[in-house]
Amino acid sequence: MVFDVMKARQDFPILAREMAPGVPLVYLDSAASAQKPRVVMDAMVSMMTHSYANVHRGIHRLGDEATDIYEGARSRAARFIGAQAAEEIVFVRGATEGINLVAQAWGRTHVGPGDEILVSEIEHHANLVPWRMLVQEKGATVRMAPVRDDGSLDMMVLAGMMNARTKMLAITAMSNVLGVINPVREIVALAHARGIPVLVDACQAAVHGQTDVQALGCDFLVFSAHKLYGPTGIGVLWGRKEILDSMPPWQGGGHMIDRVTPETITYAGVPARFEAGTMPIVESAGLVAALDYLDGFGMDAIAAHDRMLHDAARERLARIPGLRLMGGAPGSSNIVSFTLDGAQAYDVASIADKCGVALRAGHHCAQPLMRRLGVDATVRASFGLYNTLEEVEQLGRAIEKAREMLS
Ligand code: PMP
Repeated sequence: MVFDVMKARQDFPILAREMAPGVPLVYLDSAASAQKPRVVMDAMVSMMTHSYANVHRGIHRLGDEATDIYEGARSRAARFIGAQAAEEIVFVRGATEGINLVAQAWGRTHVGPGDEILVSEIEHHANLVPWRMLVQEKGATVRMAPVRDDGSLDMMVLAGMMNARTKMLAITAMSNVLGVINPVREIVALAHARGIPVLVDACQAAVHGQTDVQALGCDFLVFSAHKLYGPTGIGVLWGRKEILDSMPPWQGGGHMIDRVTPETITYAGVPARFEAGTMPIVESAGLVAALDYLDGFGMDAIAAHDRMLHDAARERLARIPGLRLMGGAPGSSNIVSFTLDGAQAYDVASIADKCGVALRAGHHCAQPLMRRLGVDATVRASFGLYNTLEEVEQLGRAIEKAREMLS
């Protein structure tokens, strides 16, 4: 299918906004959070208008309808990532909460003094800090596999860091700073050959191409709906059923119990055991709409569009004197990070903002990677399915203007 970006743009009301008279919005911050198509908003409004109630509680019709929508979202999410069963999908607030859940519920049982958790140098803090918190409590350590200058992992070094004390390999499928895509299938094979389970942070990768947990072979995978053109407040933790079954609960509250007496508690099965309290019900309707919307184009078509924008942006930015492009590992996509000689990243992004170009500047929640790159901050442009080659050119012009003003 040919992807028609101009048609797709019409699905996103916010793109009609002018940031100043005659200055259109050029939104290049989708890696932080993607804009929402009308169908997502409509699905959420429709649920609140017609079928809203709490789920799994009501003996009334609205409760049943809401439960059907919420549980339907579980099946839809399972289909989106090729999970074997809907029960393998745990709804969480986002990728961050999913990783915290695994670090606590799985980690507290399996990690002890002297054990190691293996991560990489390009992880988002969401896939680093929860593990650091766990190991502090347990007397274990987090080891960080280094990346090369282009952001790629050295697989030999990674394999060499796996040992009998390694209890978990937690790795991103795609860097939120460099757009580098890790060879997850190969990494999982290396880890599994040594009996090490693998958690995949698919927060960026899920929006960039097809995610298939069976093909990846991993044990856990997380993503957030808001980066997939869906709502904030809902994300997915996928885990193999037998591993989820073996895990104790994490947060306590309503719905996650089987029976509570003044003296004893027994817990519900999976996934209810991990879904304490009132869940993101309206957001689940938005998630379904977002996944349907994406599948309507096909993830491969979206991935090809992202890659085209990424390659064009690197090529355009490389022509600007004094601009240092980070990363560049073959196969990278969707995200470009750079610095400009003699200019602070924040200043560059502020000038771009005056031109209507929304960029991100900072450490992007990846401070170990900043240290590896030898910088405090970068400017980051990230693309969505609604971005165009004309917008890549506007990015180039905005950065040239920043260079003129700051040098
Ligand atoms: N991992 C990666 C690679 C990310 O890019 C992000 C979000 N920037 C996260 C994890 C955390 O996602 P969330 O804030 O939605 O929980």
